[in-house]
Amino acid sequence: MSASLVTHVGYCRATGKRKFATKRDARIIRRRTAGHGLSVYHCTACEYWHIGHHGDLSRDEHRQRRSA
Ligand SMILES: [Zn+2]
Repeated sequence: MSASLVTHVGYCRATGKRKFATKRDARIIRRRTAGHGLSVYHCTACEYWHIGHHGDLSRDEHRQRRSA
């Protein structure tokens, strides 16, 4: 039997990351995998949860700082 306690709903088109239905699901998986330094965040593109960094956000911030 597989321990599928966590709802796996596929992959995000925008980031290619795994999507999780709830924040709790993502945190459980992060704990199981090598999630050192990774955070759980809500993706605005797919409206699901991901494990990782806010790559797009920091890039936007960087661009704003450059043009300022
Ligand atoms: Zn996403």
